[in-house]
Amino acid sequence: MRMSKLFVQTLREFPSDAEVISHKLLVRAGYIRKLSMGIYNFLPLMWRVLKKVENIVREEMDNAGAQELLMPFVQPKELWEESGRWGAYGGELMRLTDRHGREMCLGPTHEEIITAIARDGLKSYKQLPVNLYQIQSKFRDERRPRFGLLRGREFIMKDAYSFDTTQEGLDKEYKNMWNAYTKIFKRCGLDTKAVQSDSGAIGGSVSHEFMVITDTDAGENDVFYCDCGYAANSNHAISDLPMANIKGEWSTPQIIDTPDTHSIEELCDFLKIEPTVIVKSLVYIVDKNPVIALIRADKNVEETKLLNAVGGNEIRIAVAAEIEDIMVQNGFDAEKGFIGPKGLKEYNGVPVKFVADKTVIDMKNFVIGVNQKDKHGVGYNWECKCNSGGSDSTGLIELPETVADIRLVEAGELCPECGKPLKVTRGIEVGNIFQLGTKYSAPMNAVYTDIDGTTKPYIMGCYGIGISRTAAAAVEAHHDENGIKWPLAIAPYHAIVIPVSTKDELQMKVAEDIYKTLVKHGVEAVIDDRDERAGVKFKDADLIGFPYRITVGKGITEGLVEFKTRETGEILNIKPEDAAEIVVTAITKLK
Ligand code: ATP
Ligand code: MG
Repeated sequence: MRMSKLFVQTLREFPSDAEVISHKLLVRAGYIRKLSMGIYNFLPLMWRVLKKVENIVREEMDNAGAQELLMPFVQPKELWEESGRWGAYGGELMRLTDRHGREMCLGPTHEEIITAIARDGLKSYKQLPVNLYQIQSKFRDERRPRFGLLRGREFIMKDAYSFDTTQEGLDKEYKNMWNAYTKIFKRCGLDTKAVQSDSGAIGGSVSHEFMVITDTDAGENDVFYCDCGYAANSNHAISDLPMANIKGEWSTPQIIDTPDTHSIEELCDFLKIEPTVIVKSLVYIVDKNPVIALIRADKNVEETKLLNAVGGNEIRIAVAAEIEDIMVQNGFDAEKGFIGPKGLKEYNGVPVKFVADKTVIDMKNFVIGVNQKDKHGVGYNWECKCNSGGSDSTGLIELPETVADIRLVEAGELCPECGKPLKVTRGIEVGNIFQLGTKYSAPMNAVYTDIDGTTKPYIMGCYGIGISRTAAAAVEAHHDENGIKWPLAIAPYHAIVIPVSTKDELQMKVAEDIYKTLVKHGVEAVIDDRDERAGVKFKDADLIGFPYRITVGKGITEGLVEFKTRETGEILNIKPEDAAEIVVTAITKLK
């Protein structure tokens, strides 16, 4: 490829709407252009990168025994009704209606379609196990599309689905995919950590995410980990807590004045107590329904865990106006800071749900909101079930039926496996693997006939990799202030040859010769034949991120060219044929 013909427009400045470096660099270096919110054109350089990532994924999936197919992007509502997800999937599902009035959706994921395919084709245990995958565009109307390709609305994913007859079979395939993923990300030049995670809208029980660890804003997930090998996403992490400091000040329950104590800090200051003796009540809205979470006041709620405890799609903390309404509708006048569970019955006709975090179960003589402005209950205790009927007796609060771990883990708390302090870092999830079990096959009646003649639903797994997100994560992991440093295996081109002066005949001839030699040996090379200053060419080469740069300048009169490795910045002055050989050897190793 000749630089004069390459379809690329590099920009002088970073785009103003980009927050993270991969987004900034991919736009500035001419890889992507935004079409609409969360929707991007993949320009030729980007498409080359994406095809390389896809091919690595394809090779390793094929090696692992999976078979590729391609399912439609537009999916009928009926299948989503069979699985129960038409109603259950939240706002991310982009629904549309065709000219015949039939409801459809843009595929955010393909469990329903693949399960229907399997149901039609896999009738006997003899045909199992099978793993089918595709590389396809997905559409999710993400609440917050951001960070360029890291969280788009339209993006490319590899999704695979396995069908087994036994749990042992699924376990084996899960491990098989785990190994394939490890190879895929390594080949893409990415270090990943496999971490336990919540299963989210896809469902299932066991799941792991493959995270690219980063200390930048692009890492949307907090990962808690320990040297012993434990690693989990914050939505799934658990920890043991050191003994709490419990200075129980009030053994007689009473309601006392606590003016202007809107925060836990203010309340602690006022009462001269530790937050570990306070039960805090937080008001959430889950799909319009009120939920009160009770947790020890030095800890925070992890929203995904809370959502899992009550069921539902979308969760958020209530706003002040909603809290006020809840108070009014239940005959109270308290505001944020004074809320408590007692006496809260319903909100807009919906019963209030209560969830207690495990931290509160053993608390005694605690401090708690009693829905009275500028007052708190002190010396309160959980009401014993045996003591029923006394629900308005002072100082007693009913412990909610739902007690769950809804706590956000913090660094320094103790590893659930070995007891050492947990550490925290941030990660970009590039892939994940789930054990689905019969979550889709059972409701969709996707069954096979077993050896004993009975019909059984398949035991399924599903395995995703964000192709476009992986490419962007590679930029997050490999760049410097001058631009991208593509790992060789996924770089759009392997090398660029730069004649310093296109007017210099010798320089041009040697550059053309090197370029031809490279191309002849299968190197994907670009020659910068533009009549530009050398400085401009160098800047573009660094920005675009060619792994190798061979510069033919004045040194050629002594038979030398300059060879630069982008990743390390190392520069060698060597003979043209040696420069070509280094590149050829490097790409041969990739194969
Ligand atoms: P996230 O928690 O980041 O939203 P997810 O759990 O919704 O991801 P899956 O549904 O399992 O992800 O999708 C599989 C893979 O697809 C993810 O591991 C990720 O690499 C990629 N992916 C998911 N959502 C997006 C998106 N909005 N933009 C780009 N890639 C995405
Ligand atoms: Mg998601």
